[in-house]
Amino acid sequence: MFGLGLIKGLAVTARNLIGSYFDRERMTTVCYPEEIRPPIENFRNFPFLVYDERPDDLRCVACKICEKECPPQCIFIIQRRDDQGRPVKQPEVFDIDLSVCMSCAICVEVCPFDAIKMDHKFDYPSDNRFRGLLADKMQLARSNAYYHSIRPTEAAEVDARLAAETAKKAKPAPLPAKPNASAAPSA
Ligand code: SF4
Ligand code: SF4
Repeated sequence: MFGLGLIKGLAVTARNLIGSYFDRERMTTVCYPEEIRPPIENFRNFPFLVYDERPDDLRCVACKICEKECPPQCIFIIQRRDDQGRPVKQPEVFDIDLSVCMSCAICVEVCPFDAIKMDHKFDYPSDNRFRGLLADKMQLARSNAYYHSIRPTEAAEVDARLAAETAKKAKPAPLPAKPNASAAPSA
């Protein structure tokens, strides 16, 4: 019937409008910032860097894969060096320009060390749209416990995978096979 779709659409709108007065789940807006709805687990905004024990001991090994793969090139990394100038598996500098980041999560996908993950935090008030949104590694550092608090399913999978990899590395290498005693000695 002509106009049936329109009538159905208006009925859905009316149901949600009236329902929102009685059922808070139907409400599409809340009084932010007094009330903040927790995002769903897979919501993502900007990346953060994971640490296990201390914020100055990040999982990141400064391999720079994410820096190379980031489409808008908003990651900047300088690898740390020791007193002799040898490279250390830690970033000296790890900055992300949040004013440029497009929340694509490609950095997360390419990181082989589960060192960078996507955060739920979406409000970054600043009166400086340039320097104020340039996050350094200390501002980006979050504990693994925080990661678990926002993405429990994903974080548990990562922990299980990392534990399996550690156990595999710790497993002693198989002993070389003994020479066959019954084999005839060579001439
Ligand atoms: S989420 Fe995307 S744009 Fe943002 S830092 Fe990661 S790769 Fe770059
Ligand atoms: S976050 Fe991951 S991919 Fe990026 S430099 Fe660190 S270890 Fe490499």
